Amino acid sequence: MWSAMSTSQEVHNKHQVVQERYRLCGSCGNFCGVSENQVYCIVCGEKLMEECPQCREPIVYPTARFCPVCGRLLVQVQNLP
Ligand SMILES: [Zn+2]
Ligand SMILES: [Zn+2]
Repeated sequence: MWSAMSTSQEVHNKHQVVQERYRLCGSCGNFCGVSENQVYCIVCGEKLMEECPQCREPIVYPTARFCPVCGRLLVQVQNLP
């Protein structure tokens, strides 16, 4: 808590990139937002992952099949359009 309002320092309105995080089904590629509180895939019943099992990178690209950081295969599905 600061006592005086600093007029010299402007509060920079940064572009707050709030990256949405997702839970991803490694079996069928289904995904949901982490705020949806889904633990298991509603399509196939597989447990959803919200981070890469190898490098713990959070899932921010729900359509990704591979982890962008370590390259681990995340989704096993082959029948993508
Ligand atoms: Zn699934
Ligand atoms: Zn990874």
